[in-house]
Amino acid sequence: MDDKLFHKIIDDLTYIPQTHKFLVTLARINEPLLDKRLEVFSKHITKALPNASHIFWSNGSTLVTGKFEWMGEIEGSTLVISLNSIDEKNHTAMMGFGLEKVLKNLDYLHLLKEKNLFGANVILNAPYQSAALSVEFIKFCKNRWPLFNPNVLPFFKWQGQVSAGEKERQLSKFFIDTAAEIATLGCGQWFDIHVLANGQITKCCIDEAGYQAEKFSARTHSILNLYRKSQHLRDRIPSRGGVSSCQTCTHLG
Ligand code: SF4
Repeated sequence: MDDKLFHKIIDDLTYIPQTHKFLVTLARINEPLLDKRLEVFSKHITKALPNASHIFWSNGSTLVTGKFEWMGEIEGSTLVISLNSIDEKNHTAMMGFGLEKVLKNLDYLHLLKEKNLFGANVILNAPYQSAALSVEFIKFCKNRWPLFNPNVLPFFKWQGQVSAGEKERQLSKFFIDTAAEIATLGCGQWFDIHVLANGQITKCCIDEAGYQAEKFSARTHSILNLYRKSQHLRDRIPSRGGVSSCQTCTHLG
């Protein structure tokens, strides 16, 4: 996202009353720490939107000494690590790189937590592949990094054109017993708004394509007006089974 668009969106958000708390995440299908502007952008948000809390994301590979510690100084922030697996082969298959560096980085991050030098809450995420692997993941993380919070979530299928994640979702079998029940639920994503780097908003966090029309562009429309487009969902919170394009989705994020 270019600087001009970033600042335009943040300016739009300053119209939110200061009494209303909300979350901001500078991540969108990327490794956020590879963007050298992350610290500057985050600190700008802290000043411009004092009612916003930050959720940072990383795959753990970029948490190197001197590059990320500033996150822990932002009050009320959370850092979510997509650890995904504690097995070298499995991790490489999912992430495209090995575990060694990530584990080392997480050891360093935990050391900072132990010394009270990193204030942010740290969450370690992994997808549900089986009950046994989930238990193993939680146990390993709690033993090695007791100050972090491990978390297992079901696989989801990306919305948009690629449909990635469907094979893994099927293999995990998680949704077979739960799909009917999930169809009766609303979705927490209806309370969010997501913006791609080109300024187009998306339906939700698992929509990689976004809406293409200009009327969905944060470049030319206030982000708050774009958020109003989904107000009917927040007002009624219907079952997702009755909402077109959400009908078969089992994502619980
Ligand atoms: S139900 Fe699924 S597709 Fe619909 S908004 Fe939620 S996560 Fe996105």
